[in-house]
Amino acid sequence: MIAGLMQTAPLMISGILRFAAAAHGEREIVSRLIDEPIWRYDYAGLARRAAQAAHALADLGVTSGDRVSSLAWNTHRHLELFYAVPGIGAVLHTANPRLSDDQIAFTLNHAGGQVLLYDRSFAALIDRLAPRLDHITRFVMLSDDERLVPGAVGATGYEALIAGQPETIDWPSFDENAGAFLCYTSGTTGDPKGVLYSHRAVVLHAMASGLASAFGFTAFDVVMPCSSLYHATAWGLPFAAPICGTKLVLPADKMDGASLHALIEGEGVTFSGGVPTIWTLYLAWLQETGQTPGPLKRVVIGGSAVPKAMAQTFKHRYGVAVLQIWGMTETCPLGVIATPTPALAALGEAAMDEAIWTRQGRLQFGVELKVVTEDGQAAPHDGETSGALMVRGPWVIRRYYRQDHDAVDADGWFDTGDIATLDRHGFLRITDRQKDVIKSGGEWISSIDLENLAAGCPGVKIAAVIGAAHPKWEERPLLVIETHDGADLDKAAVLAFLTPLIVKWWTPDDVIFAAVPLTATGKIDKKRLRAAYGNHLMG
Ligand code: ADP
Repeated sequence: MIAGLMQTAPLMISGILRFAAAAHGEREIVSRLIDEPIWRYDYAGLARRAAQAAHALADLGVTSGDRVSSLAWNTHRHLELFYAVPGIGAVLHTANPRLSDDQIAFTLNHAGGQVLLYDRSFAALIDRLAPRLDHITRFVMLSDDERLVPGAVGATGYEALIAGQPETIDWPSFDENAGAFLCYTSGTTGDPKGVLYSHRAVVLHAMASGLASAFGFTAFDVVMPCSSLYHATAWGLPFAAPICGTKLVLPADKMDGASLHALIEGEGVTFSGGVPTIWTLYLAWLQETGQTPGPLKRVVIGGSAVPKAMAQTFKHRYGVAVLQIWGMTETCPLGVIATPTPALAALGEAAMDEAIWTRQGRLQFGVELKVVTEDGQAAPHDGETSGALMVRGPWVIRRYYRQDHDAVDADGWFDTGDIATLDRHGFLRITDRQKDVIKSGGEWISSIDLENLAAGCPGVKIAAVIGAAHPKWEERPLLVIETHDGADLDKAAVLAFLTPLIVKWWTPDDVIFAAVPLTATGKIDKKRLRAAYGNHLMG
């Protein structure tokens, strides 16, 4: 080997901010806030305020390697922390407010930071949790002075904290493998686990996600992340957007149809992303009001399987393209993205849509995928053979935070816990999570496929399928349906809709009409459904 003779500048998150301020400093950032007027500035303004926040944090004693926790929605202040905290070598732990009190306290204690910055809407929660927080000594409310609620913890206001601090900073350069973000999995099984993203992983992931084969951003795009900043860094959009020079629109916690629509129309949003539940609500709102999504051209949807009916409605009724993604907290989070290819286009538009809408996405440079069958062999890329999905790459986890053993095998493969197929076009299809697959008489039934089909039945808002214990077949599919308001639907109608679409033995043994519980990350909460209905078929 002979050493290359190129520069080795580390990949730093602060480098993204410096670049954005220099290359498109006047491109706008717009943010809704909690009970404050809409905030407007630009990347140059973000750079100035992130510098102020960095100085303020340093004054609070935060230094390299310290964790700083946030409990906050999608706002410009939270975005400033995304740059200020890693910028000075500390780690931003983005706590998930949708977790239970116990889990939030657990993650804050596990992260071990001394400073917590939170939105005003969490004032009561923080007062309640404070006695259980082992390390936090400084509470900062992400608020202006006027609306500050110091609460029992005596919080300082963020605006007061950064006021008067210098608007420039010489961001330090350090090892690109240093930790930058600490994101916890939602702990649907056991305690949440911490995934510690490095600067290198975040920057590479952001560069890859903007590519034309992925999100395909141009400087003309207006990007509105509806995935939460606290959940796997909102799919890296706060980094991909400034790299590509897009306008950035932040909706705070207002994800209802009317609020999203006001921003889409008013700010000219061309691209948005979020979990399917957000789009279910938005489509229902469009339907009710007769509005159309105006400038919106593309939505990226992931976190759970995208119901085909949703993609169809977006495209055929509103001319909006749907890009499905698959990923997880452990992959920063992007793994695959369903963008078209010439080979699929050659099959005709309908076949291409079918392929794209029924698969989670295609291989992207940077994330290697492997499907391993029960006998330990790598499955052929035939679109049929399913097995455990393994991933590897520079933005894939190696070890959970504060664990003493690696989470990967000797060759660096991480077992995702998903079951999938790969096809010859490089497309991945998730058929289930290992713990959700329905094992009926030795055969497997994909809960995702059944949900997807049932979601197409008129009147269905959310369709959830679990494997319910069965005296003869071990498990049988049980369908739980939450209907749209006013929909008149019964079991016979749902089964009549499904029958022509599935093989007979996939037919759900029963259909229950009830509210479908969602997890802290907006997925169907199968654990709670199993607890409620797991024995429903046992008589
Ligand atoms: P959690 O903390 O809920 O596990 P993650 O976002 O890390 O949150 O969840 C990752 C999991 O979500 C994946 O392992 C997969 O099971 C599921 N998932 C993500 N995207 C999709 C998708 N497009 N289709 C089906 N499942 C998905």
